Amino acid sequence: MQELTHYINGEHVKGTSGRFADVYNPATGDVQAKVPLASAAELAHAVDIAAAAQPAWAAVNPQRRARVMMKFVDLLNRDMDKLAEALSREHGKTFPDAKGDVQRGLEVVEYCIGAPQMLKGEFTDSAGPGIDMYSMKQALGVTAGITPFNFPAMIPMWMFAPAIVCGNAFILKPSERDPSVPLMLAELMEEAGLPKGILQVVNGDKEAVDAILDHEVIQSIGFVGSTPIAEYIYGRGCSNGKRVQCFGGAKNHMIIMPDADMDQAADALIGAGYGAAGERCMAISVAVPVGDETADRLIEKLVPRIEKLKVGPYTSGDDVDYGPVVTAAAKQNILNLVQTGIDQGATLVVDGRDFSLQGYENGFFVGPHLFDNVTPDMDIYKKEIFGPVLSTVRAKSYEEAINLAIDHEYGNGTAIFTRDGDTARDFANRINIGMVGINVPIPVPLAYHTFGGWKKSVFGDLNQHGPDAFKFYTRTKTVTSRWPSGLKEGGEFNFKPMD
Ligand code: NAD
Repeated sequence: MQELTHYINGEHVKGTSGRFADVYNPATGDVQAKVPLASAAELAHAVDIAAAAQPAWAAVNPQRRARVMMKFVDLLNRDMDKLAEALSREHGKTFPDAKGDVQRGLEVVEYCIGAPQMLKGEFTDSAGPGIDMYSMKQALGVTAGITPFNFPAMIPMWMFAPAIVCGNAFILKPSERDPSVPLMLAELMEEAGLPKGILQVVNGDKEAVDAILDHEVIQSIGFVGSTPIAEYIYGRGCSNGKRVQCFGGAKNHMIIMPDADMDQAADALIGAGYGAAGERCMAISVAVPVGDETADRLIEKLVPRIEKLKVGPYTSGDDVDYGPVVTAAAKQNILNLVQTGIDQGATLVVDGRDFSLQGYENGFFVGPHLFDNVTPDMDIYKKEIFGPVLSTVRAKSYEEAINLAIDHEYGNGTAIFTRDGDTARDFANRINIGMVGINVPIPVPLAYHTFGGWKKSVFGDLNQHGPDAFKFYTRTKTVTSRWPSGLKEGGEFNFKPMD
């Protein structure tokens, strides 16, 4: 069995805690590797190395730091297939999806190549007699990130690319469920010219996370994962005086107005609801058709499309729509919630519970599910299912539909499908959700915009990537300087300031 490592000071290092987690191939259900779970001492060792390496890296000029990112982009493209294969093997997502995971991270790295421009400070000439004032954006020092299983390439790159290009050292604690790609990314960054110790990967679970939260040298923590853990990390990290940004779970609603193009809406729901087995924080998990007639038309269009979905392992090629979910526990949790939906009175229109794939009987596959007549008091509405389960909540009016989304505790993404500009504009203005799609089901902002939800989907005030990342990973220092060259001997000015 393969034993994975940490990546510390430019080397693959075996775990010494004696604790390991199993890493599965979700398509077969086999344990394919074990990953070491770091102790607080192993984490502290990585921090010591990062702290020693960081000042020299911060002193490298921003253009040279950006060149490491340029080279890294080349290497990501060179190794795209290799990375995607490793990603699919541990995560289960299809090969095109895995490439998309790498590609969306790569785009943030490309954005970071603009660091010299983003890191320019501000300058006021003659703020007073002989006085100039300037602000610098300086690196924080040692920074850290804790990432979820569902985007093991993209989300680490969201964090470490801006952190590092700003001159910080970064310690990545990836998900213990799919840790191989983060290790490969660290190797590639070094091949791109990054000095040792600036990007390190410390694998682990709560023990490593708590060690990050409590280590006094670590200046900032980025987290993406489920809301309860986000809330915990934000609270403990902030109370330890760190700069923290945490991104949590989601329950994304898509409102379908009676005037929407129903084929377009149904196609959108298939991709957004079932793609990546629903394991996306931007997946649409709630469809809200307005009016019973719209709901009936929508369900009629959805059912045959759902029944045609191809579920299979990534090795079956490009025509697979989605793969297995990440673990047996994730599968069980989804099936339990489906049962709760039935027990609480929702109508299960498409039942994927008995799905089984010949040759992959032990894989963590979940067939697609569609619920109708879901109501806001049901658990399947309130909770994030994170599986291929779409719930339909019938709304009588646009007001009822928008209020559903407004009242839900999560606020990551949402969408409206309509042909009416007024309604779309009203929705975009009034909704209390961070990312909004108009006839676009998964409105993920591109790298040069910022990504982030509202309400219980986020803790902290800056978003991921885009200009916010340069704010999060730097501190502003403002210098006021006075030089006497503008003064005559005796302290009198040799020019007359204007009245
Ligand atoms: P998770 O919260 O279980 O784990 C995320 C990270 O936290 C992992 O690195 C894990 O090791 C660590 N962790 C888990 N339990 C912990 C504990 N008790 N104490 C300290 N650390 C702990 O999330 P996941 O299952 O890996 O990912 C899925 C979740 O992430 C979903 O809720 C999804 O919506 C969310 N997500 C959100 C975004 C976003 O941008 N808002 C993006 C992707 C995923």
